[in-house]
Amino acid sequence: MKLDTSIEYLKGVGPRRAEILNKELQISTFYDLLNFFPYRYLDKTKLYKIKDVKNTESYIQFVGKITSIYQTQGKGKRIIVKIKDETGSIDLIWFKGLNWIKEFLKKDQEYIVFGKPVNFFGKINFVHPEVEHNNKENNNLSGKFAPIYPSTEKLAKSGITNKVIQKLISNLLSVSINNITETLSENIISKHKIYNIKKAYQNIHFPINNNDLKKSIFRLKFEELFFLQLQLLFMKTKKNKKKSTFNFIDIGDNVNKLYKECLDFDLTNAQKKVIKEIRKDLKSGYQMNRLLQGDVGCGKTIVALFILLIAIDNKCQVCLMAPTEILARQHYKTIKQYLSGFDIKIELLTGSIKPKEKESIINDLKTNNIDLIIGTHAVIQKNVSFNNLGLVIIDEQHKFGVEQRGRLWGNINPPHVLVMTATPIPRTLSMTIYGDLDVSIIDELPPGRKKIKTYHWLDTKRLKMFNHIKKEISNGRQIYIVYPLINESEKMDYKDLMDGYKSIQREFPSPEYNISVVHGQMKPQDKDIEMARFVENKTQIMVATNVIEVGVDVPNASTIIIESANKFGLSQLHQLRGRVGRGDSQAYCILMTNYQVSENGIKRMQTMTQTNDGFKIAEADLQLRGPGNMLGKEQSGIINFNIANIVKDQALLMLAREVAKKLIKEDYSLSKYENKNIKVTLNQIRKTKYKWSRIS
Ligand code: ADP
Ligand code: MG
Repeated sequence: MKLDTSIEYLKGVGPRRAEILNKELQISTFYDLLNFFPYRYLDKTKLYKIKDVKNTESYIQFVGKITSIYQTQGKGKRIIVKIKDETGSIDLIWFKGLNWIKEFLKKDQEYIVFGKPVNFFGKINFVHPEVEHNNKENNNLSGKFAPIYPSTEKLAKSGITNKVIQKLISNLLSVSINNITETLSENIISKHKIYNIKKAYQNIHFPINNNDLKKSIFRLKFEELFFLQLQLLFMKTKKNKKKSTFNFIDIGDNVNKLYKECLDFDLTNAQKKVIKEIRKDLKSGYQMNRLLQGDVGCGKTIVALFILLIAIDNKCQVCLMAPTEILARQHYKTIKQYLSGFDIKIELLTGSIKPKEKESIINDLKTNNIDLIIGTHAVIQKNVSFNNLGLVIIDEQHKFGVEQRGRLWGNINPPHVLVMTATPIPRTLSMTIYGDLDVSIIDELPPGRKKIKTYHWLDTKRLKMFNHIKKEISNGRQIYIVYPLINESEKMDYKDLMDGYKSIQREFPSPEYNISVVHGQMKPQDKDIEMARFVENKTQIMVATNVIEVGVDVPNASTIIIESANKFGLSQLHQLRGRVGRGDSQAYCILMTNYQVSENGIKRMQTMTQTNDGFKIAEADLQLRGPGNMLGKEQSGIINFNIANIVKDQALLMLAREVAKKLIKEDYSLSKYENKNIKVTLNQIRKTKYKWSRIS
């Protein structure tokens, strides 16, 4: 039967079960069920005996018979199930889903238990283990391995147990195995020793042995990553680039003036290299879509400045977007300063600009009376249109949704787009999220930067921390103290910040010391005033929330204290640390926590104290947090793989990308006979999957 057949018509399903499968597992066709993979396998050769169960780190399984089921009453209500085999007895404990457990577990019956033994009140037992009936279907279907599928309480309650799913998939394979068609070419299959697709589907559901299982998983992961990369790479190829009439051939007066008169340092080789790469794009006749990556403090702003002057010298308008009001304002200020002697009209457009002023800015954009507009996403609202927009620079892109990027690209005569990241992104992520962009990397910091010394101190060292601050201030340096308070837009609890601020004031009284405060609930103008006082060295201490996270540049600041540092993510911490170490003096980053820090939190602190390398930190972040949490909601759609995992399958991702690259190079139109499977599959994916439209 064809794979697009409705699941209702599979033997054993029918309308009622179809509805449940659809609702609970989003399975509506044969194809969907075929691609519903086990998340683990019961390997009967690896069953524990209860007497051997130790308080280990890892998951184990054993078979036992229930001897008693007991529910405690009152506070901390739980179910304690005693289960035994011929070697001993152990407790299984549940705190949640008690009714369901009581229904499912029966005394004197045998179950397969899978879980992690823990020490609970001095006894080894299992808390919330997975349990399955130990019967033929669960045990015998496929020799050694039995597949265990993800389930939900609703599914199990309506009788669609693991063994039912097994049965359904077995039915499906017997009627549809011949409808599964190969998607890869013979070449790729034989060169990389990949299982053919039928074998892979058969074995991922019902593996005969470990090797078959591994190779089946490899095949299906490869396939998923390969077709993703293939599409991303196609978008990147010249033929798919949009033609552009913006050919920035000239290097004009403004660029020369900046280079000759305004820099008090030499560009690093890395900066020169990326400017060259970008320039090449700008005169290629095609729209540029380039990602500029570089560690905090590597000098992306000056690169952006050169690029935008090239556009302006070629008589175009430029738009520079930042993710937050404070950063947009900071850019506006910095760039205005750099370009003060230039004949260039610059305006700032953010949400808090007054309507009247906004109206006149919008009008000036339309009539080409503004060369450079700097702003937040206010600049891509529907009512804003440009006269001659030739270049868009998006700073700290990860906070912009892909859709927003898309809106700018939608023009009839599309502008060049340069995306700049705040911190480095792990290679695998940038290869997927930004896989359709060309990438430039600044892999060098300006000379003379001292390595920032980073410490993790417990609250007991508060006095030492205060003394450090005093010493630095007496040497003429300035200090940031940062508190973890959330978003600019979010209603927030000031308490931590304000308590902190008060204790800082007590410790550092005026008039000897002056303190600035900046947080998300202040009016932008007030923030500006406070920031300005700090920038001008009128205040020595800046107490702030992480609104200062991105972009803020005060080279005289030598120390950043991060309070409750465990509440920050790694890339945030790295960004924050990047606020110091911008001048020549030794810089410090002090991470303050109390002693109650999670395992994960400790790893973050260790990563920070061990390395200053943003690329390493990004990798660690990906490992600790997982890709979904690292990206915004908008972007995580694309990494929602069915089977592949961007963290665990890095090598496979690289391989898939290489194979896809080679294919495109050898047979761009996929017209060779040997590539017909790939062509058919690709067309099918393009027809059915929406996620592609979102990133192009
Ligand atoms: P980021 O890449 O984090 O945005 P910035 O553009 O803010 O970094 O630059 C950080 C600091 O380094 C700024 O004070 C800038 O003036 C300075 N800087 C940039 N390039 C150089 C260079 N080639 N030599 C010395 N200092 C530089
Ligand atoms: Mg920056």
